[in-house]
Amino acid sequence: MSGRLDRRVTAVAEELLRRKKVVAPLDVLSGLGWLSSRSVQAWELGRVERLDSQAAVPPARLAEALTCLHEWAAGQGLVKSEVDYVAATRDRRGLVFGGDAAVEAAFRIQWTAPGLSPARQARIAERQAKAPDLVVIQPDKQWHCAQCGETGEFHFLEDERPLCLVCADMDHLVHLPSGDAALTRRARKASGLAAVVVRWSKSRKRFDRRGILVERKALEAAEEQCLADEEVRERRKARDRERRAAQDVEFQGAFAVRIGELFPGLDGERARAIAEHAGVRSSGRVGRSAAGQALDEHAVTLAVVAAIRHEETGYDAMLMAGVGRAEARERIRGDIDRVLALWRQG
Ligand SMILES: [Zn+2]
Repeated sequence: MSGRLDRRVTAVAEELLRRKKVVAPLDVLSGLGWLSSRSVQAWELGRVERLDSQAAVPPARLAEALTCLHEWAAGQGLVKSEVDYVAATRDRRGLVFGGDAAVEAAFRIQWTAPGLSPARQARIAERQAKAPDLVVIQPDKQWHCAQCGETGEFHFLEDERPLCLVCADMDHLVHLPSGDAALTRRARKASGLAAVVVRWSKSRKRFDRRGILVERKALEAAEEQCLADEEVRERRKARDRERRAAQDVEFQGAFAVRIGELFPGLDGERARAIAEHAGVRSSGRVGRSAAGQALDEHAVTLAVVAAIRHEETGYDAMLMAGVGRAEARERIRGDIDRVLALWRQG
């Protein structure tokens, strides 16, 4: 057994276990760089008979890597299970790795980390057991249906022959382009028959997802759910706004009362105006600060001072005339103290 291959297999397997909590030979061979995503895709689409024929190394080397993997897994105390690989074709035929029975069997074993929660184990098993989506191709070349000779926007491959959606009995499906994850998930779930739409990317040398084909009714139901969500969100926002407005009114009322207590000489109307101004949401004004919220004497006084500054003194006019803020404040200090003293007396 080659020690070097052993180390490479171990490194890939450990990384998979760390990242995905599950190690499958398919992912290990891909991780070694021996299987391209393109050839795995072709295999899953049922376009190649045996996966091992697509590998960058000879079958003996593949078998050797699988042996290394099994030895590593045995030493780790991992939980073993079997995977069925199924084609993304209508007949959902079983996919063949290749090689003899022992290699084939070795390829179908996967391992999960021990001690996973039952929920996590169930999720991994479910993901593995799920047949891959049916795939419809959006061709970029001229094509004709192998059955009726027509052409169209999509074709479905059956035994490597392109079929139009009518001949494939998929013409009742509508195309939902990628982009809205929630809508896609819901439409897919509601649709009895569904297929993934892919298009060959020349630059990436693989098929990219372009959306899904789903039943019209499923799409409409999903759209309604998403709209309902939107309405629910809007209603929630409106409720929040009302609640905040109510809080503001309450807060401003309490603030005005506190102003009245500290400054009995100030008339109620004026106190309310100051409280409202100080309490405007998100204004960053003193009334919204933590101390203001607590109706602390200093904070309330600051709000009153701000009002005096703007309304009882020449402060704003000084600023307009280009007097610096510190200088202007210095000049009005006496005025402010006088007004405060006046208002403090009942
Ligand atoms: Zn046709």
